[in-house]
Amino acid sequence: MDRYFVLDWHVHAGEAEFFERYPHYADSFRAFWQPFAEQYGVDIFGTMNISLADKVKMVQAAGVDRAVLIGLDFEPDFPFKFPLEYLAGLEKQHPDVITAFPCLNPKKGVERAVEELQEMHRLGFKGVKMYPCFWGDPSDRRFYPLYEKLAEYGMIAMFHMGSQIAPGARLKWCLPYLLDDVAMDFRELTIVVAHMGWPWIGECVMGLARKNKNVYFDTGSLGPRQHWGNVQYTANEGIYHYIEQRLPDRILYGCDYPNMTPKEMVAGFSRLPVGEEFKRQFLGENARRLLRL
Ligand SMILES: [Zn+2]
Repeated sequence: MDRYFVLDWHVHAGEAEFFERYPHYADSFRAFWQPFAEQYGVDIFGTMNISLADKVKMVQAAGVDRAVLIGLDFEPDFPFKFPLEYLAGLEKQHPDVITAFPCLNPKKGVERAVEELQEMHRLGFKGVKMYPCFWGDPSDRRFYPLYEKLAEYGMIAMFHMGSQIAPGARLKWCLPYLLDDVAMDFRELTIVVAHMGWPWIGECVMGLARKNKNVYFDTGSLGPRQHWGNVQYTANEGIYHYIEQRLPDRILYGCDYPNMTPKEMVAGFSRLPVGEEFKRQFLGENARRLLRL
């Protein structure tokens, strides 16, 4: 493979420094990730001992130039949150490698979330991650003040949609079509659907994104090892051919570390039997455009 600019859209924050600074979050972090540790066969809790410097080195060793580090905020369900100043600090320490997206969580109240969003904007974050599975139907009009502000600030609205095995998550709020109203009512808002909405990949790609030009999707956790088989409802090679033909500017490479490793994902996607130009867009250029880099 030629050397492309590679941007990993989906890496979870959670470095050794974080747990040293906020040791009281370690237990709830473990409770959240426990089902993933069981199902993905990865030493997720071991990654809590990896320093920021080593994480950056690991990402770069896989051929990744820049990564979006995603924060979590599951209060009040889990007493757990990445403080904004911590995430801003990640960017400050590695401005040429790290872009951070904090988690926007209206479960604590929409007004409070709007206030926090103002603070996120003030700190210069370019986007947020949202987990409707913990707080409700994202097309519910009571959440519209969040999207209004995000659009006003030109910030990216990334949603976890699709499968969610964390304790307390409701799959009924993870269906990709719930974002159709949001995409239609906020045309200027850039929406990113994580995991291509898996297992509802067809709904996400062929339904939602083909209809709405402001909808993008990432490949978080869709590891070639598990997903290139002949299983229905998964990210078979065919979906990448469809995207190459119809929506080549809408796909964002992401690994979803610690569920998957950048090394395995980048190597797997580099072997995709698609055109070079599409690979360049897919692995980095689409993301570079969205983040205005
Ligand atoms: Zn994720």
